[in-house]
Amino acid sequence: MNGISILMYHQVGNFPTVKLHRASYTNLVHFRRQMAFLKRWGANVLTMTEAVAALRGERPIPPRAVVLTFDDGYRSFIDTAVPVLQEYGFPAIVYVLASKAGDDAGWYAVDGQPTPPLMTWDEVRRLPALGMEVGSHGLFHTALKGVDAPTLRAELADSKRIIEDQLGRAVPHFCYPFGSVDQAAIDACAAAGYSSAVTCQRGAAYPALDLLALPRKSIRQGHDIPMLLWKLYTKNGLKGAPLHRSAA
Ligand SMILES: [Zn+2]
Repeated sequence: MNGISILMYHQVGNFPTVKLHRASYTNLVHFRRQMAFLKRWGANVLTMTEAVAALRGERPIPPRAVVLTFDDGYRSFIDTAVPVLQEYGFPAIVYVLASKAGDDAGWYAVDGQPTPPLMTWDEVRRLPALGMEVGSHGLFHTALKGVDAPTLRAELADSKRIIEDQLGRAVPHFCYPFGSVDQAAIDACAAAGYSSAVTCQRGAAYPALDLLALPRKSIRQGHDIPMLLWKLYTKNGLKGAPLHRSAA
């Protein structure tokens, strides 16, 4: 059965080779090659909204279906990744932090690396017109596993409302910070009214999975085209048990 490869990116730019957090960096030269490859390969790059419709069975899942996701809302998304995406006509979704627009990624400290800046609201508001979707990554980049109900409500429902107010449009998609998720978090995600949420669990997305716990495939620094192709064709089975909301 056809699945959808949801690829996970963070920062795109020019970085020294790192040993830690290799999933946080994609060098521009690699990113450009990856997008050119997806075009040649005939990837059907879907918006997350289109992917959700396909996973719900409202439209067919096309062959070679891919969704491009970018976590955290780095300024490098609009400055560096978006121009390349536009060159290839690819949509993407970026997950922003509702309480950290214009701030920097302070949760993220890597030896010797500057703390990267996050987009301002003015920048985030420009994205829909550039063909990009904006999702929520919560308020403060909080790991949601095991936190209390008020924190879950704030991170899920309040972040959604804040971003919707800033954009003047619905924000139906969520991304769990650090991929940290448990059943209570998934249930809170449902209660907040999201229609999709992505994790860091590895695998392709299939209709049988809960739309609020969709797996992704992480693209790491130094991944060349054979590695990307290998990730697209393999790594489709879910690594670990499927996560899902409580039965209604
Ligand atoms: Zn993140």
